[in-house]
Amino acid sequence: MKNKNFRLNSSVLLLVISFVISSCSAPAQLVSITPFGEPVPLTETVGIIASPTPFQPIHPTNTLPPPPSAIPLPTWTPSPTVTPSPSPTPTWTFNEAGKVVAPILLYHHITDITPANRYYVSPANFKVQMQALKDWGFTTITPAYLRQVLVNGGDLPSRPVVITFDDGDLDVYQNAFPIMQEDGFIGAFYIVSTRLGASGYVGVEQLKEMVVGGWEIGSHTKNHYDLTVNHNIVRDEMLQSRLDIEDALSVTVTSIAYPYGLVDVYIATKAQEYGYFTGMGLGILTEHTWGTMYYLNRREVHGDMDLTAFARLLPWSGPILTPTPSSYDITATPGGSSVSDKIPTPGNGLP
Ligand SMILES: [Zn+2]
Repeated sequence: MKNKNFRLNSSVLLLVISFVISSCSAPAQLVSITPFGEPVPLTETVGIIASPTPFQPIHPTNTLPPPPSAIPLPTWTPSPTVTPSPSPTPTWTFNEAGKVVAPILLYHHITDITPANRYYVSPANFKVQMQALKDWGFTTITPAYLRQVLVNGGDLPSRPVVITFDDGDLDVYQNAFPIMQEDGFIGAFYIVSTRLGASGYVGVEQLKEMVVGGWEIGSHTKNHYDLTVNHNIVRDEMLQSRLDIEDALSVTVTSIAYPYGLVDVYIATKAQEYGYFTGMGLGILTEHTWGTMYYLNRREVHGDMDLTAFARLLPWSGPILTPTPSSYDITATPGGSSVSDKIPTPGNGLP
């Protein structure tokens, strides 16, 4: 009994630590998003909200606990196209279960807008960032594959990266998708299910095309509400959005991105119960463990970042040179990258 309690407490501790680290290090910034409007940054800074709900610990195991029979669970289908980028040739080695080091990047819009704000990265800047990742030997993997390696162990490229996009904006399909395809990269797109096919948002046929291209499609809930303020909507927002996206696209959805990166223990527990294998949040950690499976830290790429700032989001940058790739860490050589000459300066006076 003591051992059991210890394991429960460990789970609680891991989860809480990951939340606290995330909220302290990179506090989620609230944005106000009307159903079909532009995101408007608010000045208020909000961290993770503790839930008064009795705690139900999450047990990350190789198999999910049996769900209530009323909820159809997705079958586990690892991404069929975890393909290394063509150049330079990455080295894939076995990664033991339990820990994966991989930056998870978060974008929203990829489009030109004047004046830009943090949620809009220009296609020119995005192209430079993807080229840098390619030059530096990064290989994209999906959240599903990351989770599979985390739980079961598996091969990983020397520099894995997960590239995610929130909100389902059409410009991601129009601008990010083709640029990433050129580089042999795949991404993950988190869709607000009620916006599917709405003006300015991506539609079913476009998403199917991205799936064929190797992308993972995740849920960003049904209406993009802050789930922490009303637990009564959590089931509909989280579960129904998954089922609706799966019906529309005939794909399996196993990942959810919490709106505004806000989550509490109740929501994270429900994410697992509703069939999700990973939950995406915000934060600076690039090392992922079983304890962070339902609050995977993502580092947001802002519209005003030049390539030096972009490189600081990554645990590795610069070309892979054996035998000491760590010497090319950006912290060891600040600003030192030949690619930085190509940075297009936004010059839009972003906040
Ligand atoms: Zn969002």
